[in-house]
Amino acid sequence: MKAINASDIDRLNQALLESSKTAIVTHAKPDGDAAGSSTAMYYFLKAYAGADLKIVLNDRYQHVLEFLVDSEAAEDMLVYSEDPDAVSKAIEDSDTIICLDFNAFHRTDKLSTLLEASSATKILIDHHLFPDVEQFDIVFSETEISSASELLYQILMKMPQIQEDAKRLPLTAATSLMTGMTTDTNNFANSVFPSTLAMASTLLEAGVDRDNILSQLFNQHSENRLRLMGHMMKDLLTITEDGAAYMILDLKTQKEYDIREGDTEGFVNMPLSIANVRISLLLKEDTDRIRVSIRSKKGTSANRCARLHFNGGGHENAAGGRLDIPVQDVEEYIITHVHSYLTEDEN
Ligand code: 5GP
Ligand code: MN
Repeated sequence: MKAINASDIDRLNQALLESSKTAIVTHAKPDGDAAGSSTAMYYFLKAYAGADLKIVLNDRYQHVLEFLVDSEAAEDMLVYSEDPDAVSKAIEDSDTIICLDFNAFHRTDKLSTLLEASSATKILIDHHLFPDVEQFDIVFSETEISSASELLYQILMKMPQIQEDAKRLPLTAATSLMTGMTTDTNNFANSVFPSTLAMASTLLEAGVDRDNILSQLFNQHSENRLRLMGHMMKDLLTITEDGAAYMILDLKTQKEYDIREGDTEGFVNMPLSIANVRISLLLKEDTDRIRVSIRSKKGTSANRCARLHFNGGGHENAAGGRLDIPVQDVEEYIITHVHSYLTEDEN
């Protein structure tokens, strides 16, 4: 990763200390990195800055991530899908807005127009390709890093309140940072850099209980989730001759297995274990769209596929997007578009 610019740290510190109302924002349908980075920022600011704080979300965190939210954070959390007026007011009133784990306002869904309209100082802390830097006043953007949580860790360690001593981080913040990094690396399977292992080591030494994090994240699921995984791998997975694997999960099946947000996390990675699979796609029907998750092996770009064919983006080997077509048309779309993607010159 690039060195973090000391003058950006000064500007960040100044903005945070001068702010009287600060909003912390992350992307819609927040995953572990979104929840980890946003709660870590919250706990850091709670400990070291005096502003009125709000965590402002389009949707609640996935239920397996609720252990990151203490009672104070729960009170300071506003969710658009539950209380749009309170969210609008919080964004309008904020003089500083910290945006974590997304690269452009549209990734926040319904918060997008509110964020665009706000005249607050906007700070970006993110690790995705192609950040929309014009929308922000202070930008921390790094793609050679595991996660937004790791980037936030590197930033916080440089803040004058912490002075490179992780023991000065509230333990809640340290736990959140470790959690976000753990989920975005798929528990140290992808995007692990030397800096990532150094962070893990430092946070363990600072007292983070990694066993508890792993238990919360991976060992508290419903039986139904595992049964659905079996059904998907056995009956819903198709593998094409080009080396694409895809699964289409409709709402009816999600209901049948009583699936909650986040329950299918990680399923899209599994077909990459097959030797001739280069790219894996999960198409998940939602109430207003088809949500697309894409993973690829080195040499095939999930990001480019998401941008060209699925109205999305993300990282080189982990990306996502959306389709606005009926679920029954998805298979045909995949067959044509992914075939043409895998047989174009660059791939
Ligand atoms: P996931 O498949 O886990 O939902 O997302 C994988 C990666 O792609 C994440 O880094 C996520 O931020 C990014 N991503 C997911 N959906 C979208 C999308 O609709 N647009 C863009 N630009 N990125 C996305
Ligand atoms: Mn992330």
